Amino acid sequence: MPRKEDTGPKAYFPGPRSENESWVRSEFQAIVDDWFDWRRGTRPGDPAAIGAEERLTPGFLVERERTAQALAELMALLRRETPTYSPRYAGHMVSELSLPALFGHFTALLHNPNNTSREVSKVGTVIEAEAIAMLAEMIGFDPAAARGHFTSGGTIANFEGVWRARYRLDHWLALALWIAEKTGETLDLFAAAHMGWARFSELVSTHNPPAAELRRASAVAGNPADIFRRIGAASGQEYSGPVVLVPGNKHFSWQKAANVFGLGEEAFWSVGLDAEGRLDVPDLERRLVEAAAAGRPVLAVVSVAGTTETGEVDPVDTVCDLLERLQAERGWRIWHHVDAAYGGFLCTIPGGPYESVLSTRVREALRAVGRADSVTIDPHKLGYTPYACGAFLARDADRYAVSVFDAPYLERPHLARDLWSATLEGSRPASGAAAMWLTGRTIGFRPDRFGAILAGTVRARQTFQEAVRTALPEIRFLEPADSNIACFSLAADGEALSSANRHTASLYDAVREAGEFELSMTTLRRPGQSAQIAAHAARHGLEDDDDRLVLMRGVFMNPYWSSASVSERLVPEFVNALRRGIEAVGT
Ligand SMILES: *Cc1c(COP(=O)(O)O)cnc(C)c1O
Repeated sequence: MPRKEDTGPKAYFPGPRSENESWVRSEFQAIVDDWFDWRRGTRPGDPAAIGAEERLTPGFLVERERTAQALAELMALLRRETPTYSPRYAGHMVSELSLPALFGHFTALLHNPNNTSREVSKVGTVIEAEAIAMLAEMIGFDPAAARGHFTSGGTIANFEGVWRARYRLDHWLALALWIAEKTGETLDLFAAAHMGWARFSELVSTHNPPAAELRRASAVAGNPADIFRRIGAASGQEYSGPVVLVPGNKHFSWQKAANVFGLGEEAFWSVGLDAEGRLDVPDLERRLVEAAAAGRPVLAVVSVAGTTETGEVDPVDTVCDLLERLQAERGWRIWHHVDAAYGGFLCTIPGGPYESVLSTRVREALRAVGRADSVTIDPHKLGYTPYACGAFLARDADRYAVSVFDAPYLERPHLARDLWSATLEGSRPASGAAAMWLTGRTIGFRPDRFGAILAGTVRARQTFQEAVRTALPEIRFLEPADSNIACFSLAADGEALSSANRHTASLYDAVREAGEFELSMTTLRRPGQSAQIAAHAARHGLEDDDDRLVLMRGVFMNPYWSSASVSERLVPEFVNALRRGIEAVGT
């Protein structure tokens, strides 16, 4: 087993004491030098526009002084910002930036490409395609076949998934409705809604539907209420629209999606969670059968790799197994989207020298992310890139397809030269793509590189937990922790949950007021998380008398915890901060 301090190339970060200052200064200087050199070298015969008599007049020198003062004020303001780069910060899913990400972001920022189209971004779009291929390979997609793009974050990437799901379903249903109305055969709604592109193409070549008539059968192109009525008539069963199956611990981006896409929150069917807080696969199967019986097409099944609350990883592998079995047994081609906004980068760990930091089931789940149809991943979380940087990935061009507004209805646009019509966002920066591109080219996403950094963060969570468990038995950890997030409550032996919840909230306040370390709080709620709450109460011998479990939450994603000097000093200090907090609360 490698020694702790060997865990990965963490010298790629600025350093909590600005250890890499001279390196950062020289690269920033090189970036600025190159930018000016590039500008000067471009169309060198063109005239200058701002003469010295304008730049250096007494009047403008005053303007420059005013600018310097305002800039100094801005810098002073930002000095009061939370120092999230410090390992003492374990509050939310943000920490240090890697230097390759910072250099890449800054370089692209100065050139300011707009990746909305190749016309305005002939280099930025290529960098984006290459960076997407790197991320695709990392999560287990074939990088040559995979498609995707960078978004402003995980929320929009999840929206991209729903948008495509809606487009796909609409194409299949419109065709099936048109055929049913023409032939007078009964529409098998659920089968039609999950026919797959292969069957779609087959039916198109058999029936040759005119594009204009298909448009009139489309709920996206036409009037949805009217189409729903026609589907009801053709299928002999009232049609109430599609559903999306999401685990009960879903990120609130899924509720926003319901809102934005006008699906109605009812259309987001919650899948049960097991006692360890992960998606319950037998419940997923029940819900799918229920949807079939109710004639509600399934837009997508979502599983989460790294939940926002507790960092749990759903059994992506068994979800894939179930969906494959249903396809074989019943012909349902059901879309599987993995929301790996937080945990996607953990896919760099399995198969490498540090994989034992993850449990076998988490490793198996992460290995299966590449079996999904589409994936959300957030480089601005565990990719250590600046905001705003998320990504949407699809396994291939077919899966990436979405409506292009001016294209003929039957033409399924694959990755066109321009992405503008295939992204929810219009103008898009190249900075996030450049940050990921440079990260891939330097640190690299191999298990012994990026995987080593992230394994170090998981180990940091374990080290913290072991130290606290030994020193402070009244701290009750939520078990098992799948990644680098530790959640815990404060409770005396046999204490009632309701009272422990109050004490935990007070401990959070006390630790925050002391200001030495920063944690966050989260609450598990019944009925969705009932099994997990009951398991926590039983494991720690607490009286289970409340509808919620209040938890303190430490996100140990900071790369510096794997440094022996940091953990030897700060872990005991962290334990002491908690001890003083507990004394202040006085359980
Ligand atoms: C963070 C997160 C999101 C949303 O991502 P943003 O980048 O904040 O928009 C979605 N899903 C999960 C599981 C997340 O952790």
